Amino acid sequence: MQKIGQYFQSLLLWELLKGLQLTGKYLFKRKITVQYPEEKTPMSPRFRGLHALRRYPNGEERCIACKLCEAVCPAVAITIDSEQRSDGTRRTTRYDIDLTKCIFCGFCEESCPVDSIVETHVFEYHGEKKGDLLMTKQRLLENGDKYEQQIAAARASDAMYR
Ligand code: SF4
Ligand code: SF4
Repeated sequence: MQKIGQYFQSLLLWELLKGLQLTGKYLFKRKITVQYPEEKTPMSPRFRGLHALRRYPNGEERCIACKLCEAVCPAVAITIDSEQRSDGTRRTTRYDIDLTKCIFCGFCEESCPVDSIVETHVFEYHGEKKGDLLMTKQRLLENGDKYEQQIAAARASDAMYR
């Protein structure tokens, strides 16, 4: 009996009518989709996107090569080499983040004592060839220089969580 019912349902295109009924139900409702990339949804100040290394206003790198970020990274995505400068301070000679390993957990950002490594709100990036997603120190500093205003504003609005 059940099989006969299924036969008539498929003969009368019952599933199709049910689908059209659902489409009709939402046809005149308020649209919840956005026309990306022209339209964008709101973003949390804590959003974790592309990484950046920040500088102080005098241009000096913030990073003191303490390697806390490297130690805390659960994906082992950060590689740091460092050396001592003639003035006794320690700075990185190499700071790589492999974005193909990174899981964007934000632990590196949270662990940094000098607000050096941060994750920006930039998510529109991609790689087309090998190495495009390996963020070197140079590229990370460039990101920091480029997005400093955005980073500072996000951290100011997010200050109560830090
Ligand atoms: S966001 Fe997480 S996984 Fe990515 S580099 Fe930082 S600590 Fe590692
Ligand atoms: S980015 Fe921050 S946590 Fe990582 S080595 Fe530099 S100072 Fe330390």
